[in-house]
Order: sequence, then structure tokens, then C-alpha cells
Amino acid sequence: MPPFLHIDTLLLVYLMAAVLMLLVLVGGAWQAQGRYGLWFWTGAFAAVVLAQSARDLLVFLGSPLPLHTIGHIGGVLSSGLVLLGVRAFLGLRLYWVPICVAMAVMSLVSLAVVSAGQPLGVSLSLSLYGAGLLRALTLWPLLRALKAGPSFPLSLMASDQMLSMLAHWGRACMVMPGAVDSANQTEQANALWLLAFIALLLTQGFALLLLVNERLQQKILALVEIDPLTGLLNRRGLDQRLLGLHQRAATSERPLQLAAAMLDLDHFKQINDRHGHAVGDQVLVELGRRLRNHVRPNDLAVRLGGEEFVVLWFDVGNDSAVGMAERLRQSLEQAPFETDAGPMRVSASVGVASQGAAGEPLEALLKRADAAMYEAKRAGRHRVVSA
Ligand code: GH3
Ligand code: MG
Ligand code: MG
Repeated sequence: MPPFLHIDTLLLVYLMAAVLMLLVLVGGAWQAQGRYGLWFWTGAFAAVVLAQSARDLLVFLGSPLPLHTIGHIGGVLSSGLVLLGVRAFLGLRLYWVPICVAMAVMSLVSLAVVSAGQPLGVSLSLSLYGAGLLRALTLWPLLRALKAGPSFPLSLMASDQMLSMLAHWGRACMVMPGAVDSANQTEQANALWLLAFIALLLTQGFALLLLVNERLQQKILALVEIDPLTGLLNRRGLDQRLLGLHQRAATSERPLQLAAAMLDLDHFKQINDRHGHAVGDQVLVELGRRLRNHVRPNDLAVRLGGEEFVVLWFDVGNDSAVGMAERLRQSLEQAPFETDAGPMRVSASVGVASQGAAGEPLEALLKRADAAMYEAKRAGRHRVVSA
């Protein structure tokens, strides 16, 4: 076997890889102020580093303690912390107590088995089965999250956890006494397993960094495209959505057919003037909630700015658009808006325009809907006017 594949060299590489990842994660967790379960993940790499260093120190001191078991208990703790980290990242309930109890029981059983004079292989095998089980429990929520939508970092993390689970269980079978015959074979197999664990450790660290990066990017996009007050799309979000839709429509047989309802609250300034800006904001929040409930998943409700909103319906003709706008307008008027200044009656003027089959640009469509909305204002407010 080449000298760089000696177990001691590989254990050192393993330790160095864990230290490297630990340093990167401490920086990341610091920057993200502990969000995304990063402290758990940092703990996971710290557990590996501590266990490996403790093991090396004990070897150096010639300690009679079961050295390998200490390294493997580090593996169990690390797997448990990764499980907690994944649950925290995905916003799931942590199940702190059962997970910590499981980690403690696995570690103690592993130690107890060696102390009872059983061969070392039995204890190692038990802690490896335990760590593999924790990986399986980590894989489960990752696969569920992947079902909701594709994500490269999430796939990488899930693959890493799956391979890690298989590697732990494979090794657990192999270290049982009598599983491998010759000492030379054992040495070679150990080297290969260690190489696999080093690769999996590094992949896990990088997958994690990609995952956090993706989450931050999503967050920034949401900040840019979502109106913070109402949670509806803003103008920029609308433009982005439509860009995507137009690109898809260009490659399909059927052209995009949109209908727009431009909605402006009537005498909204009076609400602000009489009850204050905060109450005005509450009206806007409630309006946002009602618009969200009104549109189907494929339609769009957008806050263009101030108290001007637009609802976009897809594949809807002018008559049904006018009908839907009328129902929406009436639903706003019928139930008063709850605010800190008491229930508030609110009405809106709505202008409706629908695209001709020729695929009119959105700007022109919104302009016509806007003109129809002003027409509704001029005609006495709280009504729908079709362009
Ligand atoms: P009209 O029936 O003619 O539409 O009368 P109006 O009072 O609603 O007039 P206009 O649409 O011009 O008034 C818009 C008001 O909306 C003015 C501004 O103070 C208020 N406004 C705009 N953005 C916000 C906001 O984010 N929060 C609150 N509370 N008020 C806002
Ligand atoms: Mg208004
Ligand atoms: Mg206005």
C-alpha cells in the first residue's frame, strides 16, 4: 500500500478536513448570526475535530482508554448534530430531547460494550450502525424538501447523507469480528473507508455552504420582489414573472392572454388623515390579504405602489374579467376592514382591460386599465369600468 494511504496519514487528513470545514462554518455561522441551524453544523464538525484530536492525544499519552471508540462516539455526536442542523435549516421541529437522548444512549452503549470486555469490533459496529441511523433520519426530511422543488445544493446534501448512511452501515458490517480475514486486507479496507469518509465530510461541508448561499439568494430576491407591507408582489416582481411567462409563451403554440384589473382605493387619503398612517397601513395589509385570497394560484395580485393594486388573470376573456372584478370590488365593500380605529368601510374604483389576441404589450394593457380606473373615479367611484 502506498505510504500516503497509511491509516495514520489518512486520519490526519480527515482531521485536517474537519478543521478546515469547522473554520469555514464558524465564519459562516457568525455572518448569518446563527440562522439556518449553522451552529448545529458547526458543532457537528467540532465533534469530529474534538474526538479525533482527543484520540490522537490519548495515543500520544499511551492511554489505556478505548481509543477507536472515542473517535466513533465523535461520529455519532456529529451525525446527531447534522440531523438537528438539517431540521433547523428546513424550519422543522427540532425534537431536541429524543435526538440528544439517542446520541447519548448510542455513545454509552458503545463504551459499555468495550468495558464489558467484548471485542472492539462489536462496539465500533454499534456506533457505526447508530451514526448510519441518524443519517437515515437526516435524509428523510431532505428528500421531502426536494419533492417540493429541485435544488442542486439540497440534492448534493441528500446524496451525501445517503452515501454516508450506506458507508456507515457498510463499515459497521465490516468491523464485526471475523468479517475480514487477513490483517493486510483489514488495513487496505480501513484505508478505503477512511478515504470515503474524508470525501463525504468535505462534500457535506461544501453542500452546506451552497445551501446557505441559495437560501440567502432567495431571501434577497424576496426582498427585492415582494412588497414588505402586504406580502404581494411588487412592480419588479411582476416584471420578472411576466418576463418568464413571455419567454415560455414564445416557445408554445398558445399566446399569452392576460386581463388586468387596476384597483385604487377611494378617498384613502382621508383614512390616513383621520386615523393616522398606521391605520392606513392596516387597511392596505387587509386589502393585500383579501386580494391574495381572491386570486387563483396561477393569477397574480400585485401592489404597484401606494394604494394602487393590479390583479392579472391568465386566459380570461373581457366579460369574465369584468365579472370577476365586480365580485372582487363588492367583496371589499361588503365586509368592513378591521383596524385599530374600529371596523372601516372601504370601497375601490376598478378599471379592467383585456389583451386582444394580438398579444398587446403589458405596458399598454396596464395603461388602458389605468385610464378605465380614472374613468370609474370620474363617474363617481366604487364601480368597475371596462376599457
Ligand atoms: P381617490 O378616491 O381619488 O383615489 O382619493 P385618494 O384619497 O385615495 O387619493 P390618492 O389615490 O391620490 O391617494 C393616495 C394616498 O395613499 C396618498 C398617500 O398618503 C397614501 N399612501 C400611499 N402609500 C401609502 C402607504 O404605504 N401607507 C399608507 N398608510 N398610506 C399610503
Ligand atoms: Mg385612491
Ligand atoms: Mg392612488
